[in-house]
This record gives sequence, structure tokens and C-alpha cells, in this order.
Amino acid sequence: MEYGSITAAAGKYGAKILYNERIAKYTSFNIGGECDVIVFPNSAECIAEIVSLCRKDGIKYYIFGRCTNVLISDDGLRGVVVMIDGDFSSVRREGNCLICDAGASMTKICTEAKNEGLSGLEFAYGIPGSAGGCLYMNAGAFGGEMKDVVKYCDYLDTDGNIKRMENAKMQLSYRHSVFCGSGKVILSICYELTEGDKDQIAAKMNEIMTKRRDKQPLEYPSAGSTFKRPEGYFAGKLIEDSGLKGYRVGGAQVSEKHCGFVINRENAAFADVKKIIQDIKDRVLDDSGVELECELLVIE
Ligand SMILES: Cc1cc2nc3c(=O)[nH]c(=O)nc-3n(C[C@H](O)[C@H](O)[C@H](O)COP(=O)(O)OP(=O)(O)OC[C@H]3O[C@@H](n4cnc5c(N)ncnc54)[C@H](O)[C@@H]3O)c2cc1C
Repeated sequence: MEYGSITAAAGKYGAKILYNERIAKYTSFNIGGECDVIVFPNSAECIAEIVSLCRKDGIKYYIFGRCTNVLISDDGLRGVVVMIDGDFSSVRREGNCLICDAGASMTKICTEAKNEGLSGLEFAYGIPGSAGGCLYMNAGAFGGEMKDVVKYCDYLDTDGNIKRMENAKMQLSYRHSVFCGSGKVILSICYELTEGDKDQIAAKMNEIMTKRRDKQPLEYPSAGSTFKRPEGYFAGKLIEDSGLKGYRVGGAQVSEKHCGFVINRENAAFADVKKIIQDIKDRVLDDSGVELECELLVIE
């Protein structure tokens, strides 16, 4: 595959570009092989041009944020990975809104909200994804979700035009948005917040982070909750009831701290995680009749 046009576009914008780079070190699972090209865009125009060149030249491309909800093959990915991350991550205040580039981390956005005395995003403190990834998945925790705080976003449509969409049109529901599988690229997000007390916001965020540390296996690489919450159940409880706590396949393991997490216990291969996910699904279906659905996205 020829990537000359992508190299030239990255050069034009001064965007970082890497060739034959293992993607594992950019993922929260620490899994994933060599990718042909990884570009780290630094502006909306740069994203638009790279995506449009890929479309024009018939190059397969992938849009990622901080890779905290993906499991990527050990064979890596052919084509272009557009990693919308820290190089495109400005955050600014306008009234009671924060307007954030898609690559801004949720941690950065929450910290900014706290520093500005803006309340509403406390629930999201500790979600390790990017603003774009969190909107794409309608990420949520501790009783809140992106749906509650997003006012509008700017995105690149499949014809290469930059457009604005209001919350009501985003079809935000449990771990789903209109962006899922649509080919649209989220460029920036406006969060509508309310004035609050800085100390109270900080205290709430600290409380939430403590709960995360107590309950989640943050000491191991993972992609967060492996499965969606099935209606009327908790995935972790179903998995624990099936006797799978600590179950291992190669280097992958059902966390002993929280059975809803598959962790990379020790140099897990892509195949180890795929197999353990299938084993869990089979066992839980047999034992309780509940069909677990993956929350993390498997990319191969
Ligand atoms: C320790 C840990 C804890 C977690 N806790 C939570 C939690 O409490 N709640 C929760 O909901 N999730 C949680 N997650 C999962 C994850 O952080 C979220 O799903 C987050 O939304 C993923 O964002 P990302 O930037 O990493 O997306 P990625 O993993 O990079 O991508 C996920 C999907 O989003 C798409 N995408 C990313 N950016 C864009 C963009 N700009 N435009 C269009 N599409 C895009 C990708 O194509 C991909 O399909 C956790 C993960 C970990 C590792």
C-alpha cells in the first residue's frame, strides 16, 4: 500500500506520523501489533484532509481516541490509524460551557471543569477515554452519562463536510450514539455545565476516584468493563456466579477484584482475550441463560 499522500498531508499540518509501529503501547489493554501508519492529527482540518485522502485513494482507515475501549489484533492494522488524542485536545470555556477538541482526555476536561467551578461532569472523572470516544459510546458511570452534559458537537460527515449536531439528534442511549458505525468523525464537543462550588466538585471527584480504585483492577491493563450490563443483571455478578473469578486463558484473566473486567494479567495475546471472552459468554449462557454482549470493540 502507498501512503505518500498521507505522509505529505501529515507533513503539511506538522502532524506526527509513525510507520510500522506497534499499537499496543497506545492502548489501555497493552495489546495490538504493528500498524502500517499511525497519524496523530493536530486540527480539524488535518483530520478532514487525511480522512478524505484515505477515501479518495481507497485506503482503509480507523478512527481511534485513546484506545481504552478497543482490543486490537496482534497482526496490527493495514491502512491508516487516525489517533485523535493529546495533539488535538484544547479545552476552552464559554459562559457555563466547556468546548473541547475530540482528543481531549476526560481527565483533562473534568479537571478543567473543577478548576473553573463548573459542575456536571463529576461522574466522568476517571473514565480514561477521549471526549470523542466518550461521546461515540455515550460513556457513563456513577449514575451519569454523556447524554446529560453534551449540548452539541461538531463532526465530519461522510462527504467531508464539517457539521454541527445538537444533543437531541444524537440518539444517545446506553453505550450507543448515532455515531456508532456511521463513518462520522467527532471533532469537538460542547458540554453545558452549571456553576458550582470548586471544593464540592473536587470532593465528589475524589470520592468517585476512590470508589474506582477500590472496586476496579486499575493496577492491570484492561479495556474497562468487558461486557455491557444486561437488562436486569450485572455482568460481573453473573460471571462470578459462574465460578469464573480468576479464570485464566494464557495471559488474560477474569479480574479477581471485579469479574466484569478481563485484564491483561501477563503479556496476554489478542487470541487469549478473544478466547476468554468467548468462554465467559458460553459459560454464563449455559448457567443463567443470559447472553452477554461485548462493550469493548474487537478490531482485527
Ligand atoms: C480502566 C477503565 C475504566 C473505564 N471506565 C469506564 C466507565 O466508567 N464508563 C464507560 O462508559 N467507559 C469506561 N471505560 C471504557 C472507555 O474509557 C470508554 O468507552 C471511552 O468512551 C472510550 O474512549 P476512547 O477515546 O478510548 O475511544 P477508543 O477506544 O479509541 O474508541 C472507541 C470507539 O470510539 C470511536 N471513536 C473514538 N474517537 C472518535 C471520534 N473522535 N470520532 C468518531 N469516533 C470515535 C472509535 O472508532 C471506536 O469505535 C473504561 C476503560 C478503562 C480502561
